[in-house]
Amino acid sequence: MPPDAATCDSCLEEMRDPLDRRFRYPFINCTRCGPRFTIVLGSPYDRANTTMAGFDMCGDCRAEYEDPDDRRFHAEPIACPACGPRLSLDGAVGEAALAEAVRLLDAGSIVAVKGLGGYHLACDATNEAAVARLRRRKGREQKPFAVMATEPGHLAELDEDERHLLGGRERPIVLARRAPGSPLAGSVAPGTPWLGLMLPYTPLHHLLCTDFGRPLVMTSGNRSDEPVAIDDREARERLGGIADAFLAHDRVIHRRCEDSVVRSTFPVRRSRGFAPEALPLTRTGSAPIVAAGAELKSTFCVVRGERAFLSPHLGDLDSPLALAAFRSDLDLYLEMLAVQPRFIAHDLHPDYLSTRWALEQPVETVAVQHHHAHAAACLAEHREYGPALALVFDGTGFGPDGTLWGGELLRCDLAGFERVANLEPVPLPGGERAIREPWRMAAAYLERASRPVPFDRWEVVRESLKANAPASSGMGRLFDAAAALLGIRTEVTYEGQAAIELEALAAGVEADPYPCRVGSGLMHGSDLIAAAHDDLASGRPRARIAAAFHEGVAAAAAAACAEAAEPRTVALSGGSFQNGRLLASVSRRLEGLGFRVLRHRRVPPNDGGISFGQAAVAAARADACA
Ligand code: ZN
Ligand code: ZN
Ligand code: FE
Repeated sequence: MPPDAATCDSCLEEMRDPLDRRFRYPFINCTRCGPRFTIVLGSPYDRANTTMAGFDMCGDCRAEYEDPDDRRFHAEPIACPACGPRLSLDGAVGEAALAEAVRLLDAGSIVAVKGLGGYHLACDATNEAAVARLRRRKGREQKPFAVMATEPGHLAELDEDERHLLGGRERPIVLARRAPGSPLAGSVAPGTPWLGLMLPYTPLHHLLCTDFGRPLVMTSGNRSDEPVAIDDREARERLGGIADAFLAHDRVIHRRCEDSVVRSTFPVRRSRGFAPEALPLTRTGSAPIVAAGAELKSTFCVVRGERAFLSPHLGDLDSPLALAAFRSDLDLYLEMLAVQPRFIAHDLHPDYLSTRWALEQPVETVAVQHHHAHAAACLAEHREYGPALALVFDGTGFGPDGTLWGGELLRCDLAGFERVANLEPVPLPGGERAIREPWRMAAAYLERASRPVPFDRWEVVRESLKANAPASSGMGRLFDAAAALLGIRTEVTYEGQAAIELEALAAGVEADPYPCRVGSGLMHGSDLIAAAHDDLASGRPRARIAAAFHEGVAAAAAAACAEAAEPRTVALSGGSFQNGRLLASVSRRLEGLGFRVLRHRRVPPNDGGISFGQAAVAAARADACA
């Protein structure tokens, strides 16, 4: 079953031709473009097995469908204004519905738009009041909104690769640097130089964007981090308090599939346009496997034979709604692939809903350590088995010793791993709260570094060290500490926010690395915080400090690999490697030492790739036992 494909140029041309019978038809498609994965009910892939089954083809469509010389020969979702789906908005249908949506957007309203793999929430991206209202209603404080535009060139500084990605068949959201003086409202992406941009990819988007004439915020139709709404009634219930109107249509979305997100060389979210394309595995048992994934940026992965099918992005798996989506989407996958799992792989974290779900199934389970799964995801996407070294830098994941890991150097292959070195653990003052309040991490690190703590609140919070301060070696927490120390951000509203802003501060600034002791299996992150503190006190520019910090982390990571020495391949994974400066600096230093470096290209380095890594590990272990 193929992925959904963006509207092709031939269809666009017809849609813009006043003499064509599909002039301005929002559901035009052909064998080269249109909905696939999201509308398919079962196999074989033909019209009767899609959500188009209820639309009887008119004579003209039937003739095209049956003509081997026609571009629409056996185009299963073929449709036209006479026989196909129709737009609606409240009482209005067709052109009137579209015109009303454009009028509402122009007036600053929020319109829910039914798309390919789910609903979007749309508003005028140049209207500050409208964007701010959408943030308030959606419960999304600062995390950037994606923007859809026909001419994104004046919104961001796009290099050749980014242009290529934007216009590619998959039409993902591309993270690019915002152009100075762009007309976008400030609250589209507050506090970050990055902008998520995409081109229209369905005929309806093309009509909407062209008629509206300005860039549109196009964010997932959900409350923050929930699964996106796909069913019309469900959308009205869940989005009723957010959207002022619903631009809907009568083609049913069968499978949830949110927009994909990419940053230059790697996917941040592998979803629409990619799913359900399989990723090949190196060695496999014949046993089907389901991997349940992690918790944030949840995905699952199904292995059949030598192929792994990584699901689209599901959102954060921390609510009953998300768990229900996980179950129903997994059922659809198992049905599509016609398999029943022999093994279910899961994280070690006992409180992830994915782990709990896995342990409830009447199937043999395989526990996979979080950072081993990250490393395995990187190895497996390069079709390598190992052994290799792996630097896995991310927030926090459960270690086999019950502590929180996340700044790890592993020696591993797909089947197993050993911990070679790690970031020196520091206490998370207040547990989870330390993740939302980076100033707590700065305080914990400064204390470790025997430096004064500049936060008054520390006196009170410090008490919690006795009661609730689990030790963590998470790299994300070290970045949080540096960001808070530099006054960038003392509290965050979404995962990775402080690190993203720290990277932005260091952009384009050269600096020698801060020294960081590496030895006996430890990287002493507090050395970096001590150096940053002392430089800050002596008045060194903050951008320089941020740059020297990044280089210091990279140099320490390279030194740890040099000490480990063997094998000569290093896989880089974990959410912290979404930091372009860190990724580039670590890669350069390792290559300078003669290591071969594997970086993510097809699977996200963040927790969206965990299920694929779990699947690769479970397959390797099943193989070893067979
Ligand atoms: Zn087409
Ligand atoms: Zn027709
Ligand atoms: Fe992770």
